Amino acid sequence: MTENILSVNNLSKVYKAGGHDLTVLRDVTFSVKKGSMVSIVGPSGSGKTTLLGLCAGLDNSSAGSVYINDIRIDNLSEDEKAGIRSRYTGFIFQNFQLLPTLTVLENVMVPLELRGEKDIKRGALELLEKVGLGERSHHYPTQLSGGEQQRVALARAFSNRPDILFADEPTGNLDAETGEKIVKLIFELNRESGTTLLLVTHDLELASRTQRIIRLKGGELISDLSTQPNQQ
Ligand code: ADP
Repeated sequence: MTENILSVNNLSKVYKAGGHDLTVLRDVTFSVKKGSMVSIVGPSGSGKTTLLGLCAGLDNSSAGSVYINDIRIDNLSEDEKAGIRSRYTGFIFQNFQLLPTLTVLENVMVPLELRGEKDIKRGALELLEKVGLGERSHHYPTQLSGGEQQRVALARAFSNRPDILFADEPTGNLDAETGEKIVKLIFELNRESGTTLLLVTHDLELASRTQRIIRLKGGELISDLSTQPNQQ
């Protein structure tokens, strides 16, 4: 076993658009140490979301490889990738992506149900309490504010005790004050559980609070810097 939770090697992604090839990621290579917090920054359209989706096994690359916990995932079947996601990863999105027909509690239980776990209600309720929404477990997502929905999404992402949390602009749809509460909660949950964080953001102040910043431009990794130079 290496100390890396994630390794990305020479990753490229080409979209076929209107008879043309659009290269949105070109030869991207980096790895992420277990327990660290890393940001991916770059201008809009630079490939951040595409890269995060490939790292999480949500999308297929055109070339290169992705390893999670030393398991190569890019050449697995969709079912196998879903199994890896369920075992090792959590994901939160800018637009929360809760399931609207399920209650808050049911949303949080989904990843555990997918894993076939039993007696999942108590753990899900504890997580909801941790994010301050224990009282809202029987409400539906549309009955909650954006910040509350993102807290449910966080509880859901942590419900299967992931080794790595992928977060795509998690505060992008929230006002500054609510966004800051969500950031604090993400950092707190990560620290408590030792979960690795890979965060996509355009917010440089937020990125500077993680330990390392990977910068993309035009689909290429143009810098990869520690924010704490004396500690690496
Ligand atoms: P970012 O997250 O940095 O804003 P994205 O990864 O969302 O960048 O997008 C990178 C580029 O890929 C953009 O030019 C976008 O238009 C393009 N793109 C994303 N998804 C698709 C798709 N499904 N088909 C074609 N082009 C896409």
